[in-house]
Amino acid sequence: MTAKLIDGKVIAQEVRDGVAAAVAKRAAAGKSKPTLATVLVGDRPDSAAYVASKGKACQELGMGSISEHLPTNATQEQVESLVKRLNADPTISGILVQLPMPSHIDEERVLQLVSIEKDVDGFSPINIGRLAQKGREPLFVPCTPNGCIYLLDKMGIQIEGANAVMLGRSNIVGMPASLLLVSRNATVTICHSRTKNLSDFVRQADILIAAIGKTEMVRGDWIKPGAAIIDVGMNSKPDATKKSGYRLVGDVNFDEAKEVAGFITPVPVGVGPMTIAMLMKNTFRAAEIQDK
Ligand code: NAP
Repeated sequence: MTAKLIDGKVIAQEVRDGVAAAVAKRAAAGKSKPTLATVLVGDRPDSAAYVASKGKACQELGMGSISEHLPTNATQEQVESLVKRLNADPTISGILVQLPMPSHIDEERVLQLVSIEKDVDGFSPINIGRLAQKGREPLFVPCTPNGCIYLLDKMGIQIEGANAVMLGRSNIVGMPASLLLVSRNATVTICHSRTKNLSDFVRQADILIAAIGKTEMVRGDWIKPGAAIIDVGMNSKPDATKKSGYRLVGDVNFDEAKEVAGFITPVPVGVGPMTIAMLMKNTFRAAEIQDK
């Protein structure tokens, strides 16, 4: 193995410890407890599990959390009035609307409603718009992309001037991660499902962030020797040795890529833990912003 492993679990724990210490300091100063409100519409088990893990993380760090759950047949008006109520509630620091919502709900309209000071997911059009503009600062940066950049910085990987290739252009990961890389002066190529000769682009990458949701699609011989690889993908792969019958793998073939890359994140303990750590950081920041 030539690549250094990027241990997201250890790095995320450091971030969480920092947040816990800052929360304790706030409490000692008599300030309010940072509190996250999650909004879940419907009964998707994966969404319910994500929301539960976010609430648990808040608890572990000394922060508050409330979880609002509406049924699958909730109306647009019900979801919107819930968000408005949370916006107006001074005990709530941050609001996280769990996506995807049922298809009859207009997600964009709901996200637009989240107050910019409470938008800890960073998905409100104002925060994303600021991220896209030179010299403008979003109040919050989306958690998974921010976690990717944090890992690169933590490992001392130079972003400025690097050829960065982003695989995927989703609103949640690919597009905001690309914007962050550009804002850090990387030269960024964004690849997607219509990109021709994908491997040729990947071979140019000093930094590769993969977020396409395709099991181990990126092969070892696509990787530039010494490249830094951040694998966001979370895909189930059949595995008879596991009780569940499957294991989680990334968008990059780890076994092949680790023999060529300079740095690589394992899946699922690379980027995965960073997403929640960044959400905790954003929730703390929201409380600090609202003090002002
Ligand atoms: P998404 O919304 O489905 O977007 C996938 C992107 O990949 C799209 O831009 C799509 O292109 C592109 N794509 C699909 N097939 C491709 C192909 N064959 N070649 C090149 N590009 C292709 O997914 P997402 O929400 O960004 O998530 C991506 C992956 O990251 C998933 O595995 C997800 O589970 C994982 N994830 C992990 C975390 C974490 O915390 N670790 C957080 C979020 C997501 P088009 O735009 O042309 O359709």
